[in-house]
Amino acid sequence: MPTARPGYDKLIFELSRPGRHAHSLPECDVPVSDPAQLLPAQHLRATAAELPEVSEVDVIRHYSRLSQMNYGVDTHFYPLGSCTMKYNPKINEDMARLPGFLRLHPLTPADASQGALQLMHELALDLAEVSGMDHVSLQPAAGAQGELAGVLMIRAYHLARGERRTKVLIPDSAHGTNPASTALAGFSVVELKSEANGDVDLLDLERHLGPDVAAFMITQPNTLGLFESKIHQITEMCHAQGVQVYMDGANFNAILGITRPGDLGFDVCHFNLHKTFTTPHGGGGPGSGPVGIKDHLAPFLPTPVVVKDGDEYALDWSRPQSIGKLQAFWGNFGMLVRAWTYIRTMGPDGLRAVSDNAVLNANYVLRRLEDHYDRSAPGPCMHECVVSARRQKKLGITAMDIAKRLLDLGFYAPSTYFPLIVEEALMIEPTETESKETLDEFCDAMIQIAREARENPQVILDAPVTTPVRRLDQTGAARQPRLKWTPPGKA
Ligand SMILES: *Cc1c(COP(=O)(O)O)cnc(C)c1O
Repeated sequence: MPTARPGYDKLIFELSRPGRHAHSLPECDVPVSDPAQLLPAQHLRATAAELPEVSEVDVIRHYSRLSQMNYGVDTHFYPLGSCTMKYNPKINEDMARLPGFLRLHPLTPADASQGALQLMHELALDLAEVSGMDHVSLQPAAGAQGELAGVLMIRAYHLARGERRTKVLIPDSAHGTNPASTALAGFSVVELKSEANGDVDLLDLERHLGPDVAAFMITQPNTLGLFESKIHQITEMCHAQGVQVYMDGANFNAILGITRPGDLGFDVCHFNLHKTFTTPHGGGGPGSGPVGIKDHLAPFLPTPVVVKDGDEYALDWSRPQSIGKLQAFWGNFGMLVRAWTYIRTMGPDGLRAVSDNAVLNANYVLRRLEDHYDRSAPGPCMHECVVSARRQKKLGITAMDIAKRLLDLGFYAPSTYFPLIVEEALMIEPTETESKETLDEFCDAMIQIAREARENPQVILDAPVTTPVRRLDQTGAARQPRLKWTPPGKA
């Protein structure tokens, strides 16, 4: 990460100088019209737009500098747990930019967009195969929206059977989107206790199951990076009470080609294409969270559904029990092209190797760190490991401090304080795309910080010193965001 240089802290508006510009156009050789003659008064602005007046050099330097301040998988190791920040192969980008895909208008009639519909149909089939589900909708634009779609289908299913079920059970280790999307779908959320290793407490589950429960939602492997070993028992207990079982598939990177949610008894699961299937996690840019379901939920799939009839592909809108449409057009199509490309370039054996290597890498990191940090659970982990800075906290160093110090040592920080059930949690997900050398550099940095916590804690408490900004007031940024730039002197 580059250290601060003059200009780094400036907005492009602050570089503005009256009259400076980046173009030199010839004199206009057609008559100039007066906008006041052409437009109604209410559409005319009273003052000129406050746009920055800058030269081409100003623009290029400004945006090049900003791009260098960026930190991502193309420049650095990114061990953010639960997020699967793996490398995004560049062939995905090439395929998404093929003019036939890139320039296709979403309202192109089916007979002129057969290739795009075929790609969507095949991707849905591939995801169904990988997950053991019967159908997949590609519409949701994020894992969270996949959850919402899944829960809405579950609600529609119970209502169609004349059952009013109002509760959804969610373990206390869950990602925040689980209760959020469930509540958005109109259910009340009941939190279940986890055992110390993140496993579901079966007695607590038994106590809560009943005719008012619509679904049980669980992440597998769980958010401690551990495979819930009693999963068959759990899905059977739920089904015996008419309760649908939802798998949060954000951790799919651990199980590709090894096991399938459909075979474990799940009725619904979502995928995060921007995690497992290498589409970019673009700073707020488009994500994709397809949702897979078993046959009994098929009538409720979001419309339209891409169908194949003989050799022809089409969009099927005539589905009277559908939960409806979730997205403008057909989902984030460019992401679907990237995920299709990834699955086809990897092939079945390649996908299986992804999970084998992701699990191996996480266990390597865990073993190297276990003498220096407290483990959150005994035994091997799946694709990510959670350690606790409990020991360091007694020395006055928190998980947050460790995260900040890592930035100075050249690494993005792991997830901190998640899952909530682990004190001072640091959740590390190395992914399969990192080499042993990179993992060793990261572990060396973590071990150095553990030593500094004992011998030189001030260097951790001062961190970060190499980043464009130091420690920010995160609460202030969330509660009182300043979203509008005010020209100097006009505040
Ligand atoms: C990322 C994640 C989600 C939410 O997915 P988005 O695509 O970010 O909406 C849900 N659950 C878990 C466990 C996750 O890691």
